[in-house]
Amino acid sequence: TRQQVHNFAAGPSPLPTNVLEEAALGLLNYEDIGMGICELSHRGKEFKAVIEGAEADLRELLQIPDNYTVLFTQGGGTGQFSATVLNLLAAHRQAHPVPAEEFKPPILDYVLTGSWSSKAYAEAQRLCAAPFPNCPSFGEPRIAASTKSSSWTRLPSKDEYKFSKDAAYIYYCENETINGIQFPHDKDSEEGGFPFDLIPEGVNLVADYSSSFISRPIKKFEKHAIIYAGAQKNLGPSGVTVLIIRNDLLIDTTKIQNELGCLPCLPITYEYKILSDNKSLYNTPPTFPIYVSALVLKHLIKNKGGLKGLEDINREKSQLLYETLEKAEKQQKAKLVVRDSNARSWMNVTFNIEGDSEKEKKFLEGAENKGFKQLKGHRSVGGIRASLYNAVAFESVKLLCEYIEEFCEL
Ligand code: PMP
Repeated sequence: TRQQVHNFAAGPSPLPTNVLEEAALGLLNYEDIGMGICELSHRGKEFKAVIEGAEADLRELLQIPDNYTVLFTQGGGTGQFSATVLNLLAAHRQAHPVPAEEFKPPILDYVLTGSWSSKAYAEAQRLCAAPFPNCPSFGEPRIAASTKSSSWTRLPSKDEYKFSKDAAYIYYCENETINGIQFPHDKDSEEGGFPFDLIPEGVNLVADYSSSFISRPIKKFEKHAIIYAGAQKNLGPSGVTVLIIRNDLLIDTTKIQNELGCLPCLPITYEYKILSDNKSLYNTPPTFPIYVSALVLKHLIKNKGGLKGLEDINREKSQLLYETLEKAEKQQKAKLVVRDSNARSWMNVTFNIEGDSEKEKKFLEGAENKGFKQLKGHRSVGGIRASLYNAVAFESVKLLCEYIEEFCEL
């Protein structure tokens, strides 16, 4: 049964049981109107209330300032790897309206701390490439800092960041889901926190918050131009992506393309201004994932003490698991992937079981039998990954720690 299982999936991830119970009812007969939520027009009054409620609750939970627009869209985090490039190149072009003959491709600065930021960088390279020989590129993606040589087991130190003062934007991933590495939100840049103080004046900052969204406060919210997250970790089912965009970045890209040129073509559903002008309803949005996300937000505000409550419990959960694993590491029974303790993710705890090659397999089999599910590391790195998203109870983490102690004979 659901009660016997502790689900540590990295995404899609567990959702609160009471929310799923309510969603199941809504799927069949929404608010007793004789029709399910998926059977209603996205332009009808019922769904309008759902999406407006979700936005209002998200604004309350994250204290989103009025000069930011909240959008619900599709295409996942991966869609935003592309959309951020295309919209921000247009914003940069608008700010630098030189004739095409004088166009100089802007620099796009990427901070690489793991697999997802690397993928975003690769997509920027793909989209910016010159369309034909002897033609300038649309932009020049650049690595502003990278910890690849450490196999993503640490964050850059402050002196490793090299930001360009006239970049179109700076991009980073707040929590790298696969490697389990996250920028500490309670440290400044000298101590390993994200170097907000090094961002050149006027340069836009983009953050991928897919796997840490609404798990704790967003550090220096107003330093960001764009914050985005796929829903399927802390917020709801897969299928909806949340965008938080500073209003000056809602650019009419078609107009800029026609008047100034030198931009790659932007698919219409990826234009932030189009989405915003139509209040996320330019085309049919993913109504069911938005509905479930709306229920999750209500639940987090009402039952979990809002963002402060979530921060406290998420800190406790990750502390307990890291302490147990550090104990196992001291006895050479386990090894944490991320060596720098400041950079360890609260959401995705990555480790290996030491010993012969069968040991880790046995650990996973034993875990499975005890109801600890989906602990296997990402297929690209192997090992073990316990994801501790909002819907994972403290009790589940405690039981997992007891299993680790028992298995490792601590
Ligand atoms: N960014 C991060 C940090 C992620 O964890 C993921 C997916 N796990 C993505 C981007 C890609 O998201 P999607 O699969 O929704 O495209």
